[in-house]
Amino acid sequence: MTDEDWMQLAIGLAAKAEAQGEVPVGAVLVKDNQLIAEGWNQMISSQDPSAHAEMQAIREGAKALNNYRLLDCTLYITLEPCSMCAGLMVHSRIKRLVFGANDLKTGAAGSVLNIVRQAEFNHQLEVVSGVLASACAEQLSAFFRRRRAEIKAARLQQRAGE
Ligand SMILES: [Zn+2]
Repeated sequence: MTDEDWMQLAIGLAAKAEAQGEVPVGAVLVKDNQLIAEGWNQMISSQDPSAHAEMQAIREGAKALNNYRLLDCTLYITLEPCSMCAGLMVHSRIKRLVFGANDLKTGAAGSVLNIVRQAEFNHQLEVVSGVLASACAEQLSAFFRRRRAEIKAARLQQRAGE
C-alpha cells in the first residue's frame, strides 16, 4: 500500500463521517504497512468536541497495540490536524504524519502553527503534506457548499410559510 492508497481509505472514512452528519474528515493509523485503527469525525454524534477523526484513530490504535505510545506508526488524515490533535501526536510519539488538504484557519502542522515539528519539544514527526490534496479538499468544500445550500433552502421555506 502506498501513501495514496492509505489516504484513499481515509477519504472513505471521511465519507462515513459525512453520512452521519459530521464534517467529512477521516484518519487511519498504520504500522508496518498494516492497518491498526480507523477514525472519522464524531463530535456531533458523541457530543464530544475532542472526537476528531485522528483523535479517534489514535485512541483506537493505542488500545489495539496495548501501548500508550504509537512508536513507528504513520497517521494518515484527510485534513491537516488542529493544535489539539497535533499535540496528541507528539505525546503519542507517532513517527510520521501524512495529510491531504491544508487547513489555513486552524492547521497546526505548518499552516497556522507547526506543533508537530517544534524543535523545542522532545519529539518531532516526519511530515508529508498534500497527498491526494485536491480530492481531500474537494470532499470538504462540496460538503460546505451543500450545507450552505440546505440552510438557504430552509430559510426560504420558512419565509414562504410566514
Ligand atoms: Zn483535531
